[in-house]
Amino acid sequence: MALVEISDVHKSFGPVHVLRGVSLEIEEGEIVTIIGRSGSGKSTLLRCLNGLERIDGGEIRVEGKRVHADMPDLREFRQRVGIVFQAYNLFPHLTVERNITLAPVLTGKIAKAEGRKLAREVLERVGLADKIDAYPERLSGGQQQRVAIARCLAMAPHLMLFDEVTSALDPELVGEVLKVMEEMARQGMTMVLVTHEMGFARQVATKLVFMHQGTVWEQGPPAELFANPRTPELKSFIGSIR
Ligand code: ADP
Ligand code: MG
Repeated sequence: MALVEISDVHKSFGPVHVLRGVSLEIEEGEIVTIIGRSGSGKSTLLRCLNGLERIDGGEIRVEGKRVHADMPDLREFRQRVGIVFQAYNLFPHLTVERNITLAPVLTGKIAKAEGRKLAREVLERVGLADKIDAYPERLSGGQQQRVAIARCLAMAPHLMLFDEVTSALDPELVGEVLKVMEEMARQGMTMVLVTHEMGFARQVATKLVFMHQGTVWEQGPPAELFANPRTPELKSFIGSIR
């Protein structure tokens, strides 16, 4: 059984049919990058995978369990599937430590007294242990995004989703965030990323998924897809980003 099984998922917003039968399997430890034009449904797919959106048809299973917006243990499920968005959504009035420990303490995952130790642990993994007492506004965009990743890690997720987490960053800050994600990949975290970073897709991803018009148009090993796109749509997409 794959860690994630997405079968024939449909999702509409009003009259707009966004996901039109998406099927995809993700094995434990895989690094999947999703590429595709703006509006092809990449963010919507990640949000469905996290239970943030109600799907209209098909089925999503994570660790064998059916994911849906009405599942009684949705909150617990979301702790096992971390998601990091493009805009770093740290709480500005809380220190880095409090940003990280808020959810684990509120959900009873750890006792309040254990918070600092946990914060230090996850901050070390993103190379920011020295910023534990800082407020977000004192950090660069890249550092804020690394704290957002650390905050996810604090919940000990089994799967992490990243939606264009480097897209809003100044170019010189992109590398430090990619490096953190690469390290997580090396340590065996299962990850699904929507990204424009083709270098990362080529070098780190185990699977490349090209979404087009709300479906998985092509998927396979990154090197193979980049070298031999089977469809004119992927060929033209690759051409447009080179
Ligand atoms: P991508 O991430 O590939 O750019 P999205 O999944 O964000 O694509 O969006 C796909 C389509 O769904 C777009 O046409 C977008 O306008 C529409 N859409 C996404 N979210 C909503 C929403 N909450 N309400 C209405 N339309 C939405
Ligand atoms: Mg998007």
